[in-house]
Parts: sequence; C-alpha cells; structure tokens
Amino acid sequence: MERASVQNQTDFDVLIVGAGISGVGEAYHLQQQCPDKSYCILEMKDTFGGTWETHKYPGIRSDSDLYTFGYRFKPWTGVPIASAEAILTYMGEVIDENNIGQHIRYGHRITQCDWSSAENKWTVTATRTADGSEIVFTCNFLWMCQGYYDHENPNIPTWPNMDQFQGQLIHAQLWDPKTDYAGKKVVVIGSGATAATVIPEFAKEAEHVTMLQRSPTYFFCSENRNELADRLREIGIDEPTIHRVVRAQILYDQDVLTERCKNEPDAVFDELKALIRGYAGEDFEFEPHFTPSYRPWQQRLAFCPDGDVFQAAAAGKLSVVTDTIDTFTEHGIRTASGEELEADIVCVCTGFHLSVMGDIPFNVDGKPVDWHDTVNYRGMMFTGVPNLAWVFGYFRASWTLRVDLLGDFVCGLLNHMDDIGARRIEVALREEDGDMAILPWIEEDNFNPSYLTRDMDKLPQRGAKPEWRHNQDYWREKDEIPSTDLSGSEFIYDGVRRDGKNDGLKAQSA
Ligand SMILES: Cc1cc2nc3c(=O)[nH]c(=O)nc-3n(C[C@H](O)[C@H](O)[C@H](O)COP(=O)(O)OP(=O)(O)OC[C@H]3O[C@@H](n4cnc5c(N)ncnc54)[C@H](O)[C@@H]3O)c2cc1C
Repeated sequence: MERASVQNQTDFDVLIVGAGISGVGEAYHLQQQCPDKSYCILEMKDTFGGTWETHKYPGIRSDSDLYTFGYRFKPWTGVPIASAEAILTYMGEVIDENNIGQHIRYGHRITQCDWSSAENKWTVTATRTADGSEIVFTCNFLWMCQGYYDHENPNIPTWPNMDQFQGQLIHAQLWDPKTDYAGKKVVVIGSGATAATVIPEFAKEAEHVTMLQRSPTYFFCSENRNELADRLREIGIDEPTIHRVVRAQILYDQDVLTERCKNEPDAVFDELKALIRGYAGEDFEFEPHFTPSYRPWQQRLAFCPDGDVFQAAAAGKLSVVTDTIDTFTEHGIRTASGEELEADIVCVCTGFHLSVMGDIPFNVDGKPVDWHDTVNYRGMMFTGVPNLAWVFGYFRASWTLRVDLLGDFVCGLLNHMDDIGARRIEVALREEDGDMAILPWIEEDNFNPSYLTRDMDKLPQRGAKPEWRHNQDYWREKDEIPSTDLSGSEFIYDGVRRDGKNDGLKAQSA
C-alpha cells in the first residue's frame, strides 16, 4: 500500500525514535504487519544509520557477521564482517526499497515525552536542529529505538595531567577521519572491539602502535568469509535462501559456543589460542596480556578478521601494555609501574556513556518517570509506562535479531489492541509475582560490560521470572516471545486486567 508522506503531519498512531538499524527495521515491520497505522520516525541527525554514522574511526566495521546483524527480511550478500559504509548502503537500500524515507523527519531532536491517560496519547516535543524551533507531535504508541549510549559525549575518563600532553588526544567516537597518523607513535587506550578495529588500521601506517589496557580481552580470529555462503553461491542457490540457511548455521554455531563457554571455558580458550597462533606464530605468548580474568562470553569476544591484531603484533608494529595510567606527561603516558609510553596520538577507546531512553525526560500523567523505579517486561516494556516499547538488542548475539523479534511482537500487540478495541496497554506485576525478587537489570555473572554496570541505577529493574528479564539469550527468546499470550494477566488494556480488576493507570476522564 502506498502511504502518504508525513512531512507536514504531527499526529500519528506510532512514533519511532531514531533512524538507526533498530528504527528502520521496526518501520519495515510496522509497514508490513500494521499497514493501516500512520507512523513517523524522528531522528536528530541529518541522516540515517545511528551508530554506523556516528563512528568514523579508522577501519570502522561490524563486530558481528552481517548474516545475523542484517535483517531477516533483506539478504546480506557481502563479506560477513562489514564496514560501516557497507552497512549504511544496506540500510539505505532497505529505506529506498520500502519507501521508508518519506516517513523520516531528520534533524528533529526529541526533548520531552508526556503521556496522558485522559487522551491515551504521548505528546512528544522535538527541537528542529536547523532553526531551533520547537515542534510538538502526538501519537498513541511510542517506539523507542534510540540505542543505548550518548552519541555526542563518549566516556573519557579523567587522568592526571591530561592537559600537559602535547600530542593529540581523541576519543574514537569523536575521531576526525582527516587525522593523519602516518609515521606517528600511537597509543590506544582500551582493548575491546573498538581497539581491536583501530589497531590494525593504525599499524598499517603508524611508526608504532601501543595498546594500553587495564585488563585483557578474548579475541576470536577467523577469516572474513563464510564457507557455507561461498559454497551455496558457487552452486547457484538464490540469495534469500543463502541468507536464511547461513543465518541458521551461524546461530546454531553461536549457541553451541555459548554453551561451551559456560561448560568448558578452558577448552574454548585453548581453541581461541590456537586460532591466534595461526596468525601470530606458535611461540606467541598469552601471559599476561591475552589472558582475561573473566569467562569467555561474559563480555563480547572481540572479533579479529584474518587475525589482523595478531599479525600486527607478530610484525613488531604493535606492543601491548597491561597496566593503569599513573599520569599523562608532555610526551605521552606514564603507567602505574613507571613505564613511559611515548605518543604523538592517544586514541581513547574506553567506551560509552550509557543513555537510557536517550536521557529524554518522560512524564506519565504529569509525574516524572524514574526508569529505575520500573520493572521491565522482557527488556522492552515497563511497569507504569503505557504504550511504549524499547528496543535493546543482544550483545552476545547480533543486536538486530531482537529488532526482528520485537518488531513481530509489537506489531502483534498493536493488532491485538485493535482487535479488542483497546487504546492503552501497560504491563504490571501479577498477584503471583508478589514475592518475586526485584533485581538489577543486568545479571553481572551473565554479562557485565562496564558501561552498564557503572550506571546500573539509571536502568530499569528486573524480576526473577523470565518474563520480567532481558536475559540476553536469543535462543530462548526466539521461541518465548512469539508464543506470548497477549491476554495474559501481566497485560492491562485500558486500565483493566483480564480478570476484571481495575488496575493500571485509570483514565482521567470517562
Ligand atoms: C562502534 C560500535 C560497533 C558496534 N558493533 C556491533 C556489532 O557488530 N554487532 C552488534 O550486534 N552490535 C554492535 N554494536 C551495538 C550497536 O550500537 C547496535 O548493534 C546497533 O547499531 C544499535 O542500533 P540502534 O538503532 O538501536 O541505535 P543507534 O545506532 O544508537 O541509533 C539510535 C538513533 O537514535 C537517534 N536518537 C537518539 N536520541 C534521539 C533523540 N532524543 N531524538 C531523536 N533521535 C534520537 C540517534 O541519533 C541515532 O541515529 C556496536 C556499537 C558500536 C558503538
């Protein structure tokens, strides 16, 4: 169905916040599964892409394979680990092929969201970045696809005497692609996925690269190709089938690996070491710089296409220091153990500032929402906050797998509301949840990246039962979420539980 452009409209059935990979994916699902709903995507940047547009550091690429990081509905035909540029091209095709562009209002930064139970509407206030003017939108349902970190202010720790450093100090998130690092000494602070991406790129042209890490990371080295996909292509199988089959194969293998990480972490580590030795040589030393203190998979494994980090190490272009920073000096960094690291450029890869719901102030019937006072329903809906869903993907599996899953769920929910004539949906703990433990959102022994653990008090809470957690487990959720009973008593439609008790937010007027 051809949809009308939304460029002058301000009232919608659904507003999607953010034109990153989540927002664009959910727009697709909404168009397919709820063809009569009017919708608009509000995006503060002047273009789509989110994460893949924000980051411009050398070598910027995915860490996941695109067979699973790509949407289930659009085949991926390139190499599995893709550059930001290739991901943006793919997203651009999804937008063009489905006429999603006419539904995006770029340059609109949302500054406030207010729910009214009297009207069953969100009022969403945005600032138009071009001229600073304020525009007010309304919608019945708000779909938060704004990601999980502050796109403008990265996490830069404060170290002593940073201002004395005479070289260039830059966070990877703010990297200017014009920066020239040829022939320079570069120190990279950090050892996660970003560090693993920039190091081999710097190593190609810099005089020397030093990775300064507080603690080691696990690396997974492999060629940047998928044998099965190549073979299927060779024998003439069509791309949609290749996409489906290769996704299934990768998801199966990841599931096996995740289980093995839990049950036999030492054996997995031995295998990861063997892969590294394939690129760095048999004598490569893993102690102390490449032996993490946590279990593989408690944080993302840093992917290393073609073992590039280790090739740089073997070629003598990279050295690794595992230590903390004592102070910056005029010419570099002095570590706690007294080592002097000379640097022309220090590239800080210390991650993000968590931003829950884009740090946008929310009110429900005039009362400010403190997300930490809410309990989340499967990491997507929140007690006391009606008609809102949040897309927070997976970290151990590709984020986008959850975009497709939640796309189906939210569209199913919206259609169910239409079927029963409801205008308001909220989730609430049930009688049987009365003695359920309420816990921090992140299960630290399951998954514990520091940008989440250091800001736990900003995140919603979780309950001990599966429906009140985001368990980071795609393999369970892929069956559990689609089989949800939408008439279950955790769902309250128009303020009334299925058992007839008047429970959720009551309408302010008749
Ligand atoms: C460098 C990097 C590499 C990554 N690699 C992978 C990977 O390989 N695999 C993986 O699974 N995950 C990866 N991730 C996690 C990644 O962020 C997600 O996979 C995914 O791209 C997030 O998409 P998103 O659309 O949910 O959010 P984002 O990409 O963060 O997009 C959110 C959008 O919302 C907009 N927005 C935010 N606030 C407002 C507001 N107030 N008003 C209007 N618009 C707003 C932003 O401008 C942005 O365009 C990576 C993250 C980073 C930072």
